[in-house]
Formats: sequence, C-alpha cells, structure tokens
Amino acid sequence: MVLIDQLTPDAVDRYADTLTAVAAALVVGDVEGARSAIQPMAGERWIGLVGTARTTAETVPGAKPRRMPEGVRAEVLIRDRFQCSRCGGRGLARPVLVAVSDVFPNELAYHRNYGRGRVHPAYWALVLEADHTAPHSRGGSAEASNLTAMHALCNTAKADADVHELAVLNRLDEWPDWDGLLSAYPAIVGVGAELGYRHSAIEYHPKWMRLLGVPANDPKGADA
Ligand SMILES: [Zn+2]
Repeated sequence: MVLIDQLTPDAVDRYADTLTAVAAALVVGDVEGARSAIQPMAGERWIGLVGTARTTAETVPGAKPRRMPEGVRAEVLIRDRFQCSRCGGRGLARPVLVAVSDVFPNELAYHRNYGRGRVHPAYWALVLEADHTAPHSRGGSAEASNLTAMHALCNTAKADADVHELAVLNRLDEWPDWDGLLSAYPAIVGVGAELGYRHSAIEYHPKWMRLLGVPANDPKGADA
C-alpha cells in the first residue's frame, strides 16, 4: 500500500492514461493484461486532508443540503464530455471507476464515503461531480444549465468561488475521442460480475448504464 497525501499536477493525466490502457484490456477480456496495465497506480490510498466526498451543492456554507438528482449529474457529465471545467483534464463518472474497482479491489481501492486511507486517490483526482456555476449560496439552482462537470479535488479547491472567476481551460483537443471510458463501461462491469467482486448493490451499474445512455452488457443476459 502506498499512502498519498498530495497529488502532483500530472496525476490526472497519469491516472487517465493508465485507466485507458486498463479499460482497453478489459474490453477484450484480458484481465491479466489489465492487471499489468494498472500496476503504475496500484495500491495507492488517499490520506490527504480534503474532507469527505460531498458535492459542493451540499457543502457550500449556508446552503441547505440537498441531493443532486443522479439523472442531472449524468446529463451534465455527458454534455461536458467528461472534462473538468476547472483544470481542463479528463474525468470519469464515479460508477465507471467503481466498475474498475470491482475488478481490482486491492489495486484500486474504493470506499463509498471516500474514507481517508480507504480509497484510491484516483477517486479524488478523476471522478467528476456536477457543480454549480453559480454557488447554491448565491442562488444557483440544481438544474443542468446551472451545473458544470468538475473533478472532486478541483471542486474542494474551488470552495465557494464562482467558477466564472477561475481560469477555465479547454484541453479537449488533446483527447478528441475521450468519452470518460463510457464505451468500455459495460464490458468492465461484465468482467467484474464474472469475478464476483461487487462494491455495490446489484442494480447499481445497470442503473448508471441507463442514466449514462450505454447499453447494458450482462453476460448472463447475452447467453439467454
Ligand atoms: Zn479538474
């Protein structure tokens, strides 16, 4: 286990490149190839001090906590092409990363509350939340038009600043085909289901595949 309390600026690119290779292997059912591919980031655990994995919608000071509807979050991430509006880096919907953790629970540790020392730093670095462009405390609403995709770590760094006050980078031309590994998601879920490592309820991935608009690829269903 490698304890990580701070991420270098290249972490987003490093993790995204590694996971792209992992996904490519899993899509063709090459679990051992994927295990080799994930080694550069294997076994890391996040022990940094950035609170817990709540969205800004719930942490803006003075704002009433309210849940972000999951369909809205999926809509925002797809619209923003799985790119962080703060750093411009590639990102993922959380369930896609959970699907990789289902296959590699030790290499890519997952904890649903991002417990300190229990979750891989890639969850902080890569998972995109749907964040308010105008903070909830300044009257921003929880509609997709008022939300933007942002890495969890970039989100906590942003605090209550208005996104418009920050430099918004557009690096998507570096990865014109980036889809948040969505096209690999059903195959990764299929491998995880076969191996029997499940972090979540049985309906979790099918629900998110629906929300993210990808066809479910249930190996049991395919045989029927
Ligand atoms: Zn970011």
